[in-house]
Amino acid sequence: MNMIFLGAPGAGKGTQAEVVCKELNIPAISTGNMLREAVKNGTPAGLAAKECMDRGDLVPDDVVIGILKDRIAQDDAKNGFILDGFPRTVSQAEALDKMGVQIDKVVEINVPDEKITARMSGRRVCEGCGNSYHIEYKPTKVEGVCDACGAKVVQRIDDKPETVKARLATYHEKTAPLKDYYAAKGKLVTVEGQEEIAETSKLTLAAIKG
Ligand code: ADP
Ligand code: ZN
Repeated sequence: MNMIFLGAPGAGKGTQAEVVCKELNIPAISTGNMLREAVKNGTPAGLAAKECMDRGDLVPDDVVIGILKDRIAQDDAKNGFILDGFPRTVSQAEALDKMGVQIDKVVEINVPDEKITARMSGRRVCEGCGNSYHIEYKPTKVEGVCDACGAKVVQRIDDKPETVKARLATYHEKTAPLKDYYAAKGKLVTVEGQEEIAETSKLTLAAIKG
């Protein structure tokens, strides 16, 4: 099964993608994580991406599409995958169609903007492996230390309140139109994000099986 997880920054689409990919034993492919990795490694894609990311803008389509194409061609993606944070523009969605990638379902995790801004300040990410956490909703076992790899857990540069505002605006302008794009193809299911991560997961799994 090939799926797309859609949602505003901080709506929890990445967290839910992780839950579902464990359940279905398919990889979750996060373009945000891949781009952060590219920035860290100073690759050409990373250099092209960094400024856009720090401002809360989208990275140019050709950069992201290139990264994504290579990733879904890998062996572990043969039996299905979850795209977390891709596509983010209608032209990225059209690029997927052109690549001949069949999408079975698009899951939108819906959280109102007011709740998003409140949540974002608690988000943390591991500097080592990219795992994400939240000081309130998904804390690490030891404060500031990644459960998975033991590296330091920090706030993302783009999780600052000003940048979050810019990212939300970008989401509404460029990414939200994808809801109509996929609804018109009969692929869209919407899950209302709950206060508790586990509650949202129940709804998400039900939406995927339904
Ligand atoms: P979030 O969902 O919390 O906004 P991500 O980790 O998915 O964060 O993405 C972080 C940043 O990486 C985005 O703000 C954007 O700059 C860039 N990015 C990620 N995926 C894409 C994409 N598909 N197209 C363009 N830019 C992207
Ligand atoms: Zn880690």
